[in-house]
Amino acid sequence: MKTYAHESQAGHTPSFFLQRGRVQRNFEVPARAAALEAALHRMGLAPAAPPPLAPRALESVHRADYLDFLATAATDWAALPDPGPEVVANIHPVPEMVAQGARTGASIIARAGWYTADTACPIGAGSWHAIQGAAACALAAAGEAAKGRTAYALCRPPGHHAYAGRAGGHCYVNNAALAAQALRDAGAQQVAILDIDSHHGNGTQGIFWERRDVLTISIHGDPDGYYPWFVGRAHERGGGAGDGRNMNMALARGTGDAGWLDALRYAFAAIRDVKADALVVALGFDASEHEPLGYLSVTEDGFAKAGAMIGGLHLPTAITQEGGYNVDLIGTLLERFLAGWGDA
Ligand SMILES: [Zn+2]
Repeated sequence: MKTYAHESQAGHTPSFFLQRGRVQRNFEVPARAAALEAALHRMGLAPAAPPPLAPRALESVHRADYLDFLATAATDWAALPDPGPEVVANIHPVPEMVAQGARTGASIIARAGWYTADTACPIGAGSWHAIQGAAACALAAAGEAAKGRTAYALCRPPGHHAYAGRAGGHCYVNNAALAAQALRDAGAQQVAILDIDSHHGNGTQGIFWERRDVLTISIHGDPDGYYPWFVGRAHERGGGAGDGRNMNMALARGTGDAGWLDALRYAFAAIRDVKADALVVALGFDASEHEPLGYLSVTEDGFAKAGAMIGGLHLPTAITQEGGYNVDLIGTLLERFLAGWGDA
């Protein structure tokens, strides 16, 4: 199995986020990638640097105006009087504004609010470079999958909360969506995205909402008690041509291996139903029982079994790294997951 990582991730160093009204240290830190990369080395799967992004490669799933915001935000922010070290919005357009014709002007204050969903996607000087590096890893893994193989992309920052035109929840560019679209463009007829991060893959759902050719499945903690709070429920099944092509499985707090793996089996039935010929796995480790912001209670064995079960589908697969914030554990979880996959 080929693996990919990009050195630029170390330059993305978000410093804080707000939790229950408190300023907390951001846990989406470069040490996460270091722990995952060390695990790859232990497994003899040393990551390669991905090929550089082709011009406009990110426009396959993202809006050009949004990408322009990501590329210029840190510089424009730094030109404000007395700016903080990172772009963090202090106003967002609410649905009433949008319904009444809201639009963003050129000010970076307005654009920050327009193009971000929450305070958990700060943009610093090194962020855009890292965002592009993560995307390049995802596209390299998709290139392997397009050749019928499986590859792992160590994406940092992660991507599954990013919409076509909006960042949120530590995510900026949707790496899993990019990989899925690349597989379609390479000739796959029906792609499935299986998201097992403990948070709902709301950005991925949004990007493919009206698409029949990309099945999106997310297994996650119930949004009644967990980010992203407003979406991630079973009744969200896609719209238009995509009706029935989005599946959300919201699990109760504390769900362990049995319930989580049952959901996975249910997902497999849907993947077989649509006759998917390529797969993207949005792989988060925050369903772990030892996750600092935990909601689910999956064990190391559970991740090993998940790897074996998904690998047992024997589909060409691009695996993109999503969340998982227990830096001391995520390397082991990646080892267990990929070892399980190898045994499938
Ligand atoms: Zn997550």
